Order: sequence, then structure tokens, then C-alpha cells
Amino acid sequence: MHEVPIIREMVKMLQEQYPDKFSQIIKVTVEAGLLSNVQPVLIQNAFEALVLENDFLKDIDLEVVTLPIIAHCDACDKNFTVTKHRFICGCGKPAREIVQGKELRISRVDFLNE
Ligand SMILES: [Zn+2]
Repeated sequence: MHEVPIIREMVKMLQEQYPDKFSQIIKVTVEAGLLSNVQPVLIQNAFEALVLENDFLKDIDLEVVTLPIIAHCDACDKNFTVTKHRFICGCGKPAREIVQGKELRISRVDFLNE
């Protein structure tokens, strides 16, 4: 389960980024693209396991938002959403460029009293 080191790294990053305000974090939103190879439920589980070990995390709510895969069709010069891993545009041409879907990042941090 490689989600554990990922979530550990994210917590470390937040501690470094908000050294004074870390204890006021009430919610962290993570965006995970469908191509990022992480399962939202496993991220949640990894975070819950970390909370059990680290009491200072217990007031933080983690939300994982899944991002769909979006590809770009050169022929149409348009973006389209990839479903069922079918990287083919409505015009029939295969898409070569992935615009969205690989990201794994913290997209939002909410603080108490903000
Ligand atoms: Zn097309």
C-alpha cells in the first residue's frame, strides 16, 4: 500500500508550509486523478491509520476528490473526458495528450476561524 508514504509526505509538507498554523487545520482536500494510481479509499484508510499514531492529526478531516481523465484531440483541437480508459475522441482519432488525470495534490487547506 503506497498510500501510507504518500499521506505521510503530505502531512510533512503541511507541517513545513504552515509551521504556526498547522494545529488550526480542520480540513485538507486532496485531488487524485484517475491515472494517479492511488485509490481514494486507500488514501482515507492510510490517513486514518496515521491519525491513530499521531494524536495531533485527529481534528483534521481529509477529503479526497477524484478527477476524471481529460485528453486533448489534436484533430479537433478540443479536450474530452476519457471514460472506461478509452482514449479515443468522438471524431475517432486517438488522443496523445493527457490534460488531466495524473495529478495527486493538496488542492485546499481549511483552517479554524477562517
Ligand atoms: Zn477529435
